[in-house]
Amino acid sequence: MMRSAERKGQHKMSSVSSEHTDMNGVWDRIKIYCLNHKDPAPMEIIKNTEYIKTPFYACEHYMGKGGDGDICPNRLNLDDYQGIIYKFFDLYAQTPFADLTGRTYTYHRSRQKIFVKVIMFSDEEIRLGVRNLTVMGPSGKAGS
Ligand SMILES: [Zn+2]
Repeated sequence: MMRSAERKGQHKMSSVSSEHTDMNGVWDRIKIYCLNHKDPAPMEIIKNTEYIKTPFYACEHYMGKGGDGDICPNRLNLDDYQGIIYKFFDLYAQTPFADLTGRTYTYHRSRQKIFVKVIMFSDEEIRLGVRNLTVMGPSGKAGS
């Protein structure tokens, strides 16, 4: 009895997620970029190092690996990564045929505040520029 009830529950869930097939296609096209540089730098997942226990997204300048010696503090944990993409889906669902290039929004979750800018929007690729305001403040150019 329990088993069949569980199965029914699972079936219900999978039929709900199939409504989002189109969104899954969008998800595959999304790449996130670090807005802390003149040319936004791709952010990749960082994990399994001596210092890092919980994986997160950062650009190549994190820990000074960009070649210019600068250390970039911009980073994004996996929950916030998911959050900014869900919020992008909302935006996309409101105006499914619009070119969203240049659109900006802010994502909030508990103490985190993340600024997002759509820097590229095409059939092949969607690039979301990200600035973690909680870590970096509202502007990287202090005093200007
Ligand atoms: Zn960076």
